[in-house]
Amino acid sequence: MDGTKNMPTLPFQFVGNNLALDFVNTRIVLQGVQVDLLSTPEQLVSWLATAGIDFDSNIDEKDLKQVHKLREAISRLITAFRRGDEAPTASLSVFNSYLLRRKRVQQLECEDSGFCLKPAEVDRTLSSILGEIATSTADLLTTTPATKIRKCEGADCVLVFKDISRTQKRRWCSMEVCGNRAKAATHYKQKKT
Ligand SMILES: [Zn+2]
Repeated sequence: MDGTKNMPTLPFQFVGNNLALDFVNTRIVLQGVQVDLLSTPEQLVSWLATAGIDFDSNIDEKDLKQVHKLREAISRLITAFRRGDEAPTASLSVFNSYLLRRKRVQQLECEDSGFCLKPAEVDRTLSSILGEIATSTADLLTTTPATKIRKCEGADCVLVFKDISRTQKRRWCSMEVCGNRAKAATHYKQKKT
């Protein structure tokens, strides 16, 4: 795709404490403008590498559409979950079609203490990786209370995260960005009155 070479380093966000949330957080709002950080195959390759996900297939525009489709479905499911709404059936059915793609197999290994089952990674294609992201989403939605999955309270921030703080009071994607902005706004308001 044209124009990607001159693109500045993209601000990938890994603030979600969960792979599915970090994946959803590849759509951000930057200076009031919605930005898709996975809008080219190169960006997707870069995100996967930054996320520490190994893959061994080439990625093209068609793959990117698959990625966007899954991300949209996950995003809708998570939003519905957070709000206590019923899950949109179309998104659920799209999501489940990706969940079937995970190919995680195990192999039997022999150790001093006896036999044990270990994961055998046989498939690092994008399809399988999307299956893993779907699995991570399913784990999140089935094991985490909805109150722990939050959207950043920043005015135009769209980032979501799982609150794993001890106090359970996390409000911001990051204190450095939205937290400080909110603090500054409160300070300004207090000064004015
Ligand atoms: Zn934020």
